[in-house]
Amino acid sequence: SYEIDALRKRKGIVIDGCECPPPIGSFLEMKFPGCFLKALDSRSIIMPTAIQMQGIPVALSGRDMIGIASTGSGKTLAFALPMIMFSLEQETALPFKRGEGPYALCIVPSRELARQIEEVINYFSESAVKQGHPTIKTVLCIGGEPVGQQARAVQNGVHIVVATPGRLGDLLNKKIMNLELCRILVLDEADRMLDMGFEEELKNIFSFFKDQRQTLLYSATMPTKIQQFAKSALVRPIVVNVGRAGA
Ligand code: ADP
Ligand code: MG
Repeated sequence: SYEIDALRKRKGIVIDGCECPPPIGSFLEMKFPGCFLKALDSRSIIMPTAIQMQGIPVALSGRDMIGIASTGSGKTLAFALPMIMFSLEQETALPFKRGEGPYALCIVPSRELARQIEEVINYFSESAVKQGHPTIKTVLCIGGEPVGQQARAVQNGVHIVVATPGRLGDLLNKKIMNLELCRILVLDEADRMLDMGFEEELKNIFSFFKDQRQTLLYSATMPTKIQQFAKSALVRPIVVNVGRAGA
């Protein structure tokens, strides 16, 4: 509609792909649990950024997505909030058993970035617990730390895993972790992961998925290399490109 196009234009959101859900104008428009709104507010996050306006409804719609937005544009929440919501829905419908999970997986190029994302996920899932929602367990699977503790945490049952490719590949190859119930895959800073030479490791990781998954690929740039990679990893993706105007 005219209004949807006008909002996208004002925010510098450019879409490619059919049947894209409309952007949200505010966090209140999402069927977020009330605790999320409180937690956003306590972090002084009032208005969604452009990538959040369009990225959150696409993520919640179940469609694959390529999100292109520069550093500092708020990509983390655009995928973290939908990952937590999906996990809360799964856990409410059928509480997991020991050894199950993850339901959602986020792969990033560096340990530091993995830690930052885990902190954001924990902050919002703890806010949900305070409002009586089930506990969402998140495990960091990164190199440079003993593997035993990570392995035990995963084997106790986990909703969300945030990982770097090397350690994740190890855990999967050794059958310490499986992705049989994993339905959401987030690739953050995908351009950096390919630049660092992780393409083969990522393809190995993809081979562990069973059934259908939703893939959200985030990148600051969209060189040919990423476009080709995305073709092999995503199905009928919606491309959301946020220019400087909306960042
Ligand atoms: P990116 O991954 O796109 O580089 P981040 O998700 O790390 O960006 O967010 C950058 C900073 O902006 C963080 O400090 C985050 O808390 C803040 N931020 C995210 N969303 C919003 C928002 N809607 N309003 C204000 N600040 C935000
Ligand atoms: Mg980021």
